[in-house]
Amino acid sequence: MNVHVQNATKLASPEACPALVLNADYRPLSYFPLSLWSWQDAIKAVFLDRVNIVSEYEQAVHSPSFEMRLPSVVSLKSYIKPALYPAFTRFNVFLRDRFECQYCGVSHDLTFDHVIPRSRGGQTTWENVVAACSPCNLKKGGRMPAHAEMFPSQRPYRPTVHDLHRNGRAFPPNYLHESWMDYLYWDTELEP
Ligand SMILES: [Zn+2]
Repeated sequence: MNVHVQNATKLASPEACPALVLNADYRPLSYFPLSLWSWQDAIKAVFLDRVNIVSEYEQAVHSPSFEMRLPSVVSLKSYIKPALYPAFTRFNVFLRDRFECQYCGVSHDLTFDHVIPRSRGGQTTWENVVAACSPCNLKKGGRMPAHAEMFPSQRPYRPTVHDLHRNGRAFPPNYLHESWMDYLYWDTELEP
């Protein structure tokens, strides 16, 4: 995965200058998707006194009465206690399973599989739904794992927010500003 860290020598338009949003403990609010605000939202939060500016872009916005450099990193003044458990959503199931089919490991053409089929009373819950590619899903059909001889590579479980953060760190976005790097910890190696 190629990650490009933009340096400050080339000035982008304000629209290309999102602010990384950190909690009051200087950790990102979210890794995946990475917590970013538009420059407008970042500046609004500065004026509402809700955030500290941690780092700035070279770019500035002007009005007749003032000039302000765009924030590249802001931190919340009030700590937001992260939820312990994330919502049960399609995206979060994929993230728990690291966007890999739990039967064969491919990461494309992903859909969902009920380990115990719905026709056998299987429920749509963290403990019974896994990411599966369409071919595996089709192959397993409405059969029980033992009958199909298809078992998920990890037993499906209800993840904590911490689990999803950890997995999200394996998927850095394509764009990362250099000023963000002190606050982000990615699993993958970054290009210098
Ligand atoms: Zn598969």
